[in-house]
Amino acid sequence: MSERKQKLVAALAELGLGEQPQSLINGVLCDGAGVDIQLVDPFTEEVLLSYFDADAALANAACDAAQDAQKTWVREFSAAARGQVMQDISRAVLAHAEPLATIEAIVAGKPIRDCRIEVAKVAEMFAYYAGWADKLHGEVIPVPSGHLNYTQREPLGVVFQITPWNAPIFTAGWQIAPAIATGNGVVIKPSELTPITTVALVKIAESGGLPAGLVNVLCGLGPTTGQAAIAHAAVRKMVFVGSPETGRQVAIAAASALKPAVLELGGKSANIVFEDANLEHACLGAQAAIFSGAGQSCVAGSRLLLHRSIHERLIDMLSSGMNKIQLGDPLDDATEVGPISNARQFEHVRQMLIEANDEGADVLSRNAADGQGYFVPPTILKGLANTANAAQKEIFGPVVTAIPFDDEAEAIALANATDFGLAGAVWTADVSRAHRVAEAVRAGTFWINSYKAIHVSSPFGGSLSSGFGRSSGTDALMEYTSAKSVWLDSAPTPRIAFGYVS
Ligand code: NAD
Repeated sequence: MSERKQKLVAALAELGLGEQPQSLINGVLCDGAGVDIQLVDPFTEEVLLSYFDADAALANAACDAAQDAQKTWVREFSAAARGQVMQDISRAVLAHAEPLATIEAIVAGKPIRDCRIEVAKVAEMFAYYAGWADKLHGEVIPVPSGHLNYTQREPLGVVFQITPWNAPIFTAGWQIAPAIATGNGVVIKPSELTPITTVALVKIAESGGLPAGLVNVLCGLGPTTGQAAIAHAAVRKMVFVGSPETGRQVAIAAASALKPAVLELGGKSANIVFEDANLEHACLGAQAAIFSGAGQSCVAGSRLLLHRSIHERLIDMLSSGMNKIQLGDPLDDATEVGPISNARQFEHVRQMLIEANDEGADVLSRNAADGQGYFVPPTILKGLANTANAAQKEIFGPVVTAIPFDDEAEAIALANATDFGLAGAVWTADVSRAHRVAEAVRAGTFWINSYKAIHVSSPFGGSLSSGFGRSSGTDALMEYTSAKSVWLDSAPTPRIAFGYVS
């Protein structure tokens, strides 16, 4: 067994997990019965582990378990007690941070320093929503008829969440915490390529007091396991995080069963730099926007819009900065950027670079030795129009397309000339212009002289091909509940305008 696999197996054992990834249903680890799925280390290309697709039988069992446990969660736990359990989960996650980060680093190929931050953020998510558990209440509405009319926010029942491979435990915490804080049961299907930390998170949550079956994890494929769970009668809402192509299929399946969906999809975000910006800060922001996480971030600043007067200068700064980035083993504390997370994505990024070259891009790539692992060097594409494929399609790799503009109106027009509407940023010293641009660019999240700042207390989501609905903050509380309006008539005789008494 390789040294890396030994580290992985040791981390799994520390969390009470075996070598074969298993689904977690009603508190019990279960083997799937579908096709064989292999997990490959993106740094060494070694097959690490394999397991069987959960398939429809486990998907149905997971939905049934969530349906039963949800009733216990709302009937036998007060709202304050639910919040207390979530505080305990937050502490339990922190107590297991190192094995969680190690597994994520090996299986997803993310630098361990990023994994540690993401695990800490998961603990923060449970603590944040713990505070909301007993503070979500309705209102009394002064209706003109004189009835006492009040509203209640009710849980939906069972929600089914599907997540991608780029930030597995972060995305799991991001969706599970608000769902259970509002009284729902959950079935979650992480990417088949990175399922383990989601199972581990829920197991840790159960050790922190979460009732077995309230959150169930399905390890398996989308078209089999995922579609079976979408179709299950207990599932009342879909929350999907992933690509626009799959998001469309999920939304169609949900809509055909008249189930609502939240879609958190991709982006092609514009990072706009004006000539009056602090260029050193803008350069740091541009690097973080596209090279951190090897560009595998939905909010990546993949289109760098530069005022023509600083276009060449900022590209030079970015290019010399990218040569200093520490590429390497995700398990190494010093690594800033690791490999692309899996073979399929690696091929996609390389194909996009070939296309960009064919489209006439001037390709500035950092030197990187050919060797093992799915590494793509940080790359800047120059000389392409905003209409080029590389400027319009999501690359989801450390590749930025730099495009010049002449004035504010052109910068805004270019920023909005995309099918997406997820995020964006502007760098300028002019406060009025900053606000004008923030208002004019179509984006669910927008930064001024910053990039990638996010927090569980602030809403997140997109429009058009970036999806619809919102996660995080109080918006997520609304997504995971529905309003009930209750009318009480206190008049001596009912205020009913029609009817007969025999
Ligand atoms: P993907 O769409 O290939 O897969 C996402 C999930 O969908 C996986 O769990 C997969 O198993 C499942 N799936 C696949 N086919 C399915 C089907 N037919 N039915 C049901 N489920 C199915 O995405 P990916 O490659 O894992 O992730 C990368 C994408 O995710 C990028 O587009 C990125 O921008 C997006 N993303 C968006 C956000 C956001 O919050 N907006 C966050 C992270 C990633």
